[in-house]
Amino acid sequence: MKKSWKTKLIHTDGKVPEGFRSLSTPTYRGSTVLFPNAKSVNDHWDQEQVGYTYGLYGTPTVLELAARVCELEGGAHTIITAGGQGAISLIHLALLNAGDHVLIPENIYGPNRKLAHSVMRRFGVEVSLYPPMIGAGIADLIKDNTRLVWCENPGSLTMEVQDVPAVVQAAHDRGALVALDNTWSAGVFFDAFAHGVDVEMQAITKYIGGHSDLLLGAVTVKDRALFEKLGNTFQVLGCSPSPDDCALALRGMKTLAVRLRQIEASTLRVAHALQSRPEIERILHPAFESCPGHDLWKRDFTGSSGLFSIVFKPGPSKQQVQAFVDALELFEIGYSWGGVASLAVDYDLSHAKGRPIYDHRIVRLYIGLEEPEELIADLEQAFSAMRT
Ligand SMILES: *Cc1c(COP(=O)(O)O)cnc(C)c1O
Repeated sequence: MKKSWKTKLIHTDGKVPEGFRSLSTPTYRGSTVLFPNAKSVNDHWDQEQVGYTYGLYGTPTVLELAARVCELEGGAHTIITAGGQGAISLIHLALLNAGDHVLIPENIYGPNRKLAHSVMRRFGVEVSLYPPMIGAGIADLIKDNTRLVWCENPGSLTMEVQDVPAVVQAAHDRGALVALDNTWSAGVFFDAFAHGVDVEMQAITKYIGGHSDLLLGAVTVKDRALFEKLGNTFQVLGCSPSPDDCALALRGMKTLAVRLRQIEASTLRVAHALQSRPEIERILHPAFESCPGHDLWKRDFTGSSGLFSIVFKPGPSKQQVQAFVDALELFEIGYSWGGVASLAVDYDLSHAKGRPIYDHRIVRLYIGLEEPEELIADLEQAFSAMRT
């Protein structure tokens, strides 16, 4: 057919050579997926089974990230979502029905707790919080309608390390599933599936992304039945990621091992220096004896990462703790850790019912890739600023 220049803008006859190979995954963008003929058109989300159908279910860039995260975490299947919180909401919405009961640790990532208490309650799900160090004692809280038990290891801010195998045992005895937020360990320092977890998620935003420039999550499951359950819900929720973000995550992933090794060492160095400061009461870092669940960390983890909290001795006011944070020059102030820059945020936990109350004396630090001795010097000068 003879084409005008306007039609050629859409249907080109231009040719490029085939067979390009490089070390990076191409960024495949696309909503429409082309079918070879009318008969083969279908809308199934499981493209691993049926081939590509629609961009919402993942382009090759998205599915490659899913396959690599799945391999890293030793699961059966992985779904990539837009943001870690998207991974959390997918798990809630796929696995819970009206009338079901879900158990959530008191120290879990705040937006997870908020989702349970707002949307899930509104949809008729019963929500209870449990103390994170409960271990096998969780059996007493499991009811006939308990379908899901969440764990986070270690928990957000107060960093308690949970006895995940004991929780798994109690949940499985009563037919409930266990979901784990494994973001702190980047999916590598704690082997979720070897410890019996059914569904695991991590915010790719953090360590795999690694450069504070993308928002992605991953849900990984132990078997095909759970994959189908999550996939059916994923399709209708439409919480799909951008292939551009996935390409950045694939790049970040290649350096994950060296970044984590440096971050682990720098963090231990900084935390040790802080431990002996007269202002500090407690270091909440799983590799330190002062952290609740330290023995479980030794038993179950193969390493530690860059996020921990410091608890000040009683004395300084909220304003003084904020003056300490403001005086830091190398540490930036902001959420979402896992990148190359160190961060500090002060938290007020005085409202947190049932948790050890550290009041407004807790500061969460994230250690990035700066020279650790310079980070220590920065913290030391900030302690002086706090006193004046
Ligand atoms: C950041 C974070 C999330 C959510 O990730 P986003 O990509 O920011 O939505 C979930 N869980 C934990 C423990 C996190 O730190």
